[in-house]
Amino acid sequence: MKTFKDIRGQDKAIAFLRGIIANERVASAYLFAGMEGVGKTTTALAFARLLNCKDPKDEDACEQCDSCRKICDGNHPDIHLIEPEKDKKAISIEQIREIERHIAFSPVLARYRVMIIDPAERMTDEAANAFLKTLEEPPPRNVFILNVRDPGDLLPTIVSRCQRVPFKPLATEHIADFLTREEHVDVERARLAARLAEGSLGRAQWLASDELFEERAHWLGRLRNAVGGSFDILLDLARECSSLERTKPAGNMEPREEKIALMMGIWKSWYRDMLLIKQGGARDLIFNSDLSSHLEEESASYTVHALISAISVISRAERDLMNNRNPLLILERSLLGLKEVARLG
Ligand SMILES: [Zn+2]
Repeated sequence: MKTFKDIRGQDKAIAFLRGIIANERVASAYLFAGMEGVGKTTTALAFARLLNCKDPKDEDACEQCDSCRKICDGNHPDIHLIEPEKDKKAISIEQIREIERHIAFSPVLARYRVMIIDPAERMTDEAANAFLKTLEEPPPRNVFILNVRDPGDLLPTIVSRCQRVPFKPLATEHIADFLTREEHVDVERARLAARLAEGSLGRAQWLASDELFEERAHWLGRLRNAVGGSFDILLDLARECSSLERTKPAGNMEPREEKIALMMGIWKSWYRDMLLIKQGGARDLIFNSDLSSHLEEESASYTVHALISAISVISRAERDLMNNRNPLLILERSLLGLKEVARLG
């Protein structure tokens, strides 16, 4: 398990959290805000360890004391990771009730009980309302950490009771380097996965390990056909994409949605590359550099404005997907949107 010194790319967040501990000004709730796969949960667990470590060294947990060891083994009675239950999409009110039962008592062993809600935007409305009551008068020595992609997806009354800790997207070189060094992904593939992942290590890991990655050229060809072809082709593509599933889901999403999110990322990279070409950007910044002749050819038929519209169609679809809307409808609507953009050029 990582301690603060092992976490890369989040220096500001970590300096802030170390400062809290050094000054003993621990608040009752923190909002860790940033995209998935940038180290929010890892940082939250490192924070829980340092908060409770019996022998901290150089502003970091010792990794030796019982508290550190128990957290590391996942059996500390006061450290809770609250996630959607297996096969469910949401964090339920029962899970929030369970938190309420815990905080009715002092922590068993810890100086601070730490409860990590991941991702907080997956609380049902009922659960969020119940949680808000808990946040209104939290007993001392209880710390909540709410992981969230976009604080706008939470109740403003919850957001206003939390201290915000922003997490940045990770640098592309850092991600590529990690994939080659730690996961033995070949250099070319690591570089492309890192670029497509837009700053999320988690997403880069899925991408590098997903068959979608090898099939990228195929799917981009299908996208071009659908956008320039008949409605039947387009609806077929939407249906086919909506039934793909990841064999090894890695994130918080359902296997099917995770796959669609990857597909959307690939589509977006295509329009983003055309935009780059259109604006005369440096060619070495192209994501899909292996398909550059197709990109050059196709970008000629779009205006800059149209490409920006296409990217926003996909961004909206990604957002809808995060909010658990119907995947087939999302795919159909975004493909129709992209067709419309292509028609207007
Ligand atoms: Zn320790």
